[in-house]
Amino acid sequence: MARIVVLGGAMTGLATAALLGRDGHDVTVLERDVAEPKGDADELWRTWERPGVSQFRLPHIMLGAWNKVMEEDLPEVLDEVVRLGCSHVNTIATQPDTLTGGTRPGDEELRNLIGRRPVVEAALATVAARTPGVTIRRGTKAESLVATAGADGVPQVGGVVTQDGEVLTADLVVDAMGRNTTLDRMLDAIGATGPEVQAEDLGFVYYCRHFRNNEPRTMPVVGAVIPYEGMTLLVIPADADTYCLVFSVASNDHEMRDLREIDAWERALALFPNFSPVRAVSTPITDIQVMNGGGDRRRSLLVDGAPVVTGLVAVGDSAVRTNPLLGRGASTGLVQARTLRDVLREVAPDRPDVLALRFGEAVDATVGPMYRFTLDQDQHRMAEVQAEIAGRPYPPAGAGWRLQRALQMMFSQDPDALRALFRAAHRIEAFDTGTLPDTLRAKIEELEVDRPVYPPGGPTRTQLLAAVAGRPAQSAPA
Ligand SMILES: Cc1cc2nc3c(=O)[nH]c(=O)nc-3n(C[C@H](O)[C@H](O)[C@H](O)COP(=O)(O)OP(=O)(O)OC[C@H]3O[C@@H](n4cnc5c(N)ncnc54)[C@H](O)[C@@H]3O)c2cc1C
Repeated sequence: MARIVVLGGAMTGLATAALLGRDGHDVTVLERDVAEPKGDADELWRTWERPGVSQFRLPHIMLGAWNKVMEEDLPEVLDEVVRLGCSHVNTIATQPDTLTGGTRPGDEELRNLIGRRPVVEAALATVAARTPGVTIRRGTKAESLVATAGADGVPQVGGVVTQDGEVLTADLVVDAMGRNTTLDRMLDAIGATGPEVQAEDLGFVYYCRHFRNNEPRTMPVVGAVIPYEGMTLLVIPADADTYCLVFSVASNDHEMRDLREIDAWERALALFPNFSPVRAVSTPITDIQVMNGGGDRRRSLLVDGAPVVTGLVAVGDSAVRTNPLLGRGASTGLVQARTLRDVLREVAPDRPDVLALRFGEAVDATVGPMYRFTLDQDQHRMAEVQAEIAGRPYPPAGAGWRLQRALQMMFSQDPDALRALFRAAHRIEAFDTGTLPDTLRAKIEELEVDRPVYPPGGPTRTQLLAAVAGRPAQSAPA
């Protein structure tokens, strides 16, 4: 069994440690933040300081794909989150039979775990810390890598140096340092070529406010991503009757920047009448939290099919970052962690070149298709939003986007369309025309899909801009 050092002890690093520890590996997690998780859900939310994770107190939901892997491989994590007060909501079971056509096999996979991020991460930390062979060292920052020249002169990593100069030797180092990983600097210092990077310039900015619902039955939906003209509204329920409402706008949409002000944010929310009843009985538990989610980004340590480094792999946001709006990040990290465990069952770290290649290929098989699907969705949604900001139409520019719109038009009339959308939303599988039943495909071919499908009665961009600016709607520019 191998000595493995994991850099970063958050959602992906902790899951990686727990999975590898169970397989008998000796795993040390280095986490630069000092604080330990302690207390109940509300104490974790209030007091756990995690400066290393900027989105720590922003809304998170764990999708079907995350729950499925946890159920199969780390069921104690689900026990622990439930003990802390989180719960599961099946997104099909909460819809009326008229919409779903009744229960079908596979529906059980379409469930969200609702809980605040500090609570979910604390559960993971508890389970990882209990796993024999796993040591979590908080307050220990990884500073650099130790490497020798491997095959063909490609650096082979054999350990890590901490900020105090301590050297930890390892058969394998796993970078789980998240979206702001310093891996490139570390690779440069050992003479390795940087990873191959695919990155989008524009992303979405999130204006979030958390509430406690004093009358939980007033919640209009159990969680949703609802697109409107030029922006998207997110409703993210959590544990202890808390929930978060989020306006997500393009990062270059300067006219929406005043959403950071509480009054402007609340004026904008008042344009969504579905939320007035729940807002009226809710107490805010935060001010407006603002975060730029960044664009989708994928970094591969295989360049032109060959590893740029061996003895090291990257997982989680460091390797694959997707639009937070879709809530796929933790699931994608978990799938990578499980892929690493599976590859290590076949290839030991004493064959570093084979391991690097095999892991790169395996991750492309397990994560690549959903990443490419997400990228396609995001690029089209961003183009649509940019067109709406500029006041021009955005006709479906590709088959994938046309299909997405068609499914949105059909979901309230066709249970297959509903499930195709939900299965993708839960990151279970991407859809394409080939995976849909013939009857649904035939209906879609007949549809005229020439404009976005927004909920009826929602505000236009002009109305939203007027609300944000505090102007009467009629004086807003056309
Ligand atoms: C606004 C927002 C909302 C989101 N909502 C969702 C959601 O609903 N569902 C979902 O699944 N995902 C969501 N995500 C994505 C999710 O937060 C990430 O995918 C997830 O946190 C990635 O986990 P990670 O462990 O890879 O990285 P991180 O959570 O970023 O953790 C990296 C860890 O590495 C540590 N670290 C960094 N450098 C060092 C070092 N040198 N030495 C030691 N430790 C180090 C950090 O302190 C940190 O603990 C959201 C993201 C954002 C921005």
